[in-house]
Amino acid sequence: MVKKTARPHILKIKPYQPGKPIEEVAREIGVKEIEEISKLASNENPLGPSPLALKAIRKALPRLNLYPDGSGYYLKQGLSERLGIPPEQIILGNGSNEIIELIMHVFVGPGHNIVYAHPSFLVYRLMAHIFGVRGIEVPLGYFTHDLGAMARAVNAETQLVFIANPNNPTGTAVLRQEIEEFLDKIPPRVITVLDEAYYEYLPDSMKFDSLSLVNEKKVVVLRTFSKLYGLAGLRIGYGIASRDCVEVLNRVRQPFNTNSLAQAAALAALDDEEHVRRTLRVNRKGLERLNRAFQDLGLDYVPSFANFILVKVGRGQEIFQRLLQRGIIVRPMDFYGLPEYIRVTVGRPEENEKFLRELKKLLKK
Ligand SMILES: *Cc1c(COP(=O)(O)O)cnc(C)c1O
Repeated sequence: MVKKTARPHILKIKPYQPGKPIEEVAREIGVKEIEEISKLASNENPLGPSPLALKAIRKALPRLNLYPDGSGYYLKQGLSERLGIPPEQIILGNGSNEIIELIMHVFVGPGHNIVYAHPSFLVYRLMAHIFGVRGIEVPLGYFTHDLGAMARAVNAETQLVFIANPNNPTGTAVLRQEIEEFLDKIPPRVITVLDEAYYEYLPDSMKFDSLSLVNEKKVVVLRTFSKLYGLAGLRIGYGIASRDCVEVLNRVRQPFNTNSLAQAAALAALDDEEHVRRTLRVNRKGLERLNRAFQDLGLDYVPSFANFILVKVGRGQEIFQRLLQRGIIVRPMDFYGLPEYIRVTVGRPEENEKFLRELKKLLKK
């Protein structure tokens, strides 16, 4: 029994329930091609990966016998040029999720706590559990971060605050002024992690120069290639922080944490303006379509600044199961404490129509 040896706080963690592989779903509902399944559950890019990224991967394949460049030199260079931030202020991760973990290793130990919203990205809660520290969960107000309440929740033991902007699973966003007021209220010692996994989807009116905050305040910004760039399967993301923060984060990073295909693909995807433009257009039109349809159906939904929408359907778990039988995978929200909701990723136009058609039928029952 390894459980006698495992640390008690780890045994308290509920095992993560991964979704079934899409091939299994296809087999169970009796469809031959996985293309007939619409995966609208994990906010992936419905247009697929950037074609330029695929080309870069093919070019990098013959050198898979070599370890990757542990410093990620070229990708950091590319990001540096694009973002106007020196490479020394960039850290690469095996998904931005890995950077969250590196930040925890550096800053959080026994007796500390971390502050984040509820419902928000579930990884923050998981981190509190893994590191055996208190996670102070501050309820959203009207589905949006209540930054006033979050500032009040910060106490002498708080090391980190996580703010997902736009937030997952609500798709809501905060303004620069609100973030600045928040940063002015909390003790200067505390580090704020701005998780911007969906940053690129924000309309210009809601975008602000969050990167400038990393030199003014104790802020770490996280971004990813998993969403807009369509590279979720490769696991590559990055963080931007002050030089000294990146320097300490690098001390706890595994030397080869990001693989060579991911580095090559991410660099190529950054330059794939056509793929980015198409993705943003399909998403904007899809959001408009879903919003209108939810209004017509009389469903409450949360207007979203990201590539997914939270919509109130009544019995979320049941609707999820029934959509699954029809080859549409969405995300039930019980785990997030919203059992009446589902979260649906904006798909390609035909996927959105299929989802709406099936949802309509289920709601009539
Ligand atoms: C999808 C998502 C991420 C991305 O994680 P990766 O590890 O980069 O794939 C990070 N934060 C939030 C809030 C997300 O929804």
